[in-house]
Amino acid sequence: MMKTIGLIGGMSWESTASYYQLINQGIKQQLGGLHSAKLVMVSVDFAEIEALQHQGDWQKTADILSDAATSLEAAGADFFLICTNTMHLVASQVADAVNIPLLHIADATGAQLVTDKRTTIGLIGTKFTMQHSFYKNRLIDKFSIDVLLPTDIEQDIIHRVIYEELCLGIVDQKSQAQYLQIIQNLTHRGAQGIILGCTEIGLLLNKNDTATKLYDTTIIHAQSAVEESLK
Ligand code: GLU
Repeated sequence: MMKTIGLIGGMSWESTASYYQLINQGIKQQLGGLHSAKLVMVSVDFAEIEALQHQGDWQKTADILSDAATSLEAAGADFFLICTNTMHLVASQVADAVNIPLLHIADATGAQLVTDKRTTIGLIGTKFTMQHSFYKNRLIDKFSIDVLLPTDIEQDIIHRVIYEELCLGIVDQKSQAQYLQIIQNLTHRGAQGIILGCTEIGLLLNKNDTATKLYDTTIIHAQSAVEESLK
């Protein structure tokens, strides 16, 4: 029996569209024929979320996402995903609002890194994801993985491109070149791979663009949702 996946999307919808496609492709690959994923989604207004993030009003974002999780549970979701790395800053509050389990994006990523025997990894994402402890400490504490961060100037570039380009569906070659340079710098500092720790980065670059091993959290998270739904 296939479990019903719950998605909290819209952060941004550009990457939620990728989740929807990847999850359905994954189910089709596993079950074949006309099979597709059983899922329910609540998609929020990202303008509201983004404003609260930059004001530092995380409690309000937790309230909005907790309401979304409650709706998913009522709609029949057996477990749920928050389709963004950044908003895992409030993951424990959102998970506490419902009785269904949360499939945490850093856990899915950490498990993949352990499978690949990576011990030192570079992390790129929003400044919230790179600077707060919720993400990197989870990788360190739960999976014993050392996390390397870009320099402050590099973090500024990464953050700006996410909010001013990728979340608006803009894919720019100059930004791609800047990202690839940052990835190379992290590799030179000892990173055995790079976590694309923002769900829109896969719109800008993929494994064909660099020899460095990339861990695209959207692909990993969607794949783990497929596995969980078929368990
Ligand atoms: N989707 C992005 C992430 O994975 C950034 C947008 C957001 O702030 O949620 O972190």
